[in-house]
Amino acid sequence: MIRKILIANRGEIALRIVRACRELGIRTLAVYSEADEQSLHVQLADEAICIGPAQGNESYLRADRILSAAEIADVDAIHPGYGFLSENSEFAEQCESCNITFIGPKSETINQMGDKAKARDAMAKAGVPIIPGSEGALANETEATKVAQKIGFPVIIKAVAGGGGRGMRIAHNAVSFVKEFQAARLEAEKAFGNGAMYVEKYLENPRHVEFQILADRHGNVIHLGERDCSVQRRHQKVIEEAPSPFLDKNLRNRMGKAAIKAATASNYVNAGTIEFLVDAKGNFYFIEMNTRIQVEHGVTEEATGIDLIKEQIQIASGNRLSLAQKDVVLAKHAIECRICAENPSKGFIPSPGTIGLYYAPGGHGVRVDSHVYGGYTVSPYYDSMICKLISYGRTRKIALDRMYRALSEYIIRGIDTNIEFLKAVLLDPAFRQGEATTSYVEDFLARAPKDLFEKNNSE
Ligand code: ADP
Repeated sequence: MIRKILIANRGEIALRIVRACRELGIRTLAVYSEADEQSLHVQLADEAICIGPAQGNESYLRADRILSAAEIADVDAIHPGYGFLSENSEFAEQCESCNITFIGPKSETINQMGDKAKARDAMAKAGVPIIPGSEGALANETEATKVAQKIGFPVIIKAVAGGGGRGMRIAHNAVSFVKEFQAARLEAEKAFGNGAMYVEKYLENPRHVEFQILADRHGNVIHLGERDCSVQRRHQKVIEEAPSPFLDKNLRNRMGKAAIKAATASNYVNAGTIEFLVDAKGNFYFIEMNTRIQVEHGVTEEATGIDLIKEQIQIASGNRLSLAQKDVVLAKHAIECRICAENPSKGFIPSPGTIGLYYAPGGHGVRVDSHVYGGYTVSPYYDSMICKLISYGRTRKIALDRMYRALSEYIIRGIDTNIEFLKAVLLDPAFRQGEATTSYVEDFLARAPKDLFEKNNSE
């Protein structure tokens, strides 16, 4: 029985977890940094403990401080959200050794899937299609060059510990390969403290389609359909939707089965995501497994009507899945825009600061997952995402029109945001026709009129 949960995170995901717990009658403990005292999740949790200064490595990444807070407040479980310690297998292990339930998969699974080269190998063994590439991590530039030449250019150089699109470089020929390899490794060392690299064939213009998995401790595994996350900037998602405008029933079934195979092969428990790239012919390939709740989980929730955070808590409590595969239907179309404090006309540089006038959209079929409000100060210490705006409806067209309407209603003064950029994408015929691949944003920016994003909300 889980009676009280510590939320080892901040921002909108912390608030999302507080809300699910409220509905389940579970008490919540927020832990927060000095920069987050005014955040909504701190205000709305039942209890709150400050765990240190603003810097992540002095607060949200401090397992020792979080576990001390857990002991002091006598919690039964910890929900790690996404980012921070959510994919840290040592932290999951420490929770269990303190007799605190970690709401996520087993630490062995996190460990295996956290190494993207090992994950690839495990998936290949399980019969899940992978992109041609190196077996395991590469020892040095010489070995990497040989492998790249064997695969054939272009190739993508990726960090074994990678995430958030960092430590990733494309090489189009052997001449540029060594330079790109060294740059990617340096970036990976800086970002993850781990310079181990691997190489994959670079697919031209694929779609990013991922499957949401739920698995209980009794061996039941289901998928909740896909999310199309092809609209990306620098390999980071900007807009996500479910279902994918590209998948038909047959492809969905085949990919869903492969996702279940991937989860079963790794003894997966709790909510997870299997990411694939899909080419124009409908061939699909595993790229990675995320062993946590994803930022874009709300899209699946609105398309299927299933509350993923509640399911995570039920699974962590040892309960069986409350649904079978046949009960899952993508009954609605849902779309999410990531609203960020950044300036598109200045290369999307972050724009922290204090929000002045604030009015969030609402109405039929609109969901606003955000921890900010008028007078709130967006900290420069964290990710620039300030809201996940989700719209949903019976058809894709309804969801898109509704999203445009909601974006047009949104008022955020005092800081710059990407709202005008998102509105322009929502009106773009290629996007509306469901043609976006992972190179869409770059193409769109290249052909967009220069003054398109001049109008921003802080003026
Ligand atoms: P991260 O863990 O950093 O998010 P992923 O492996 O999930 O990295 O890849 C992120 C994005 O990078 C993908 O959605 C896709 O746009 C691009 N990408 C990754 N691997 C390839 C590949 N082999 N070919 C083409 N694009 C790729």
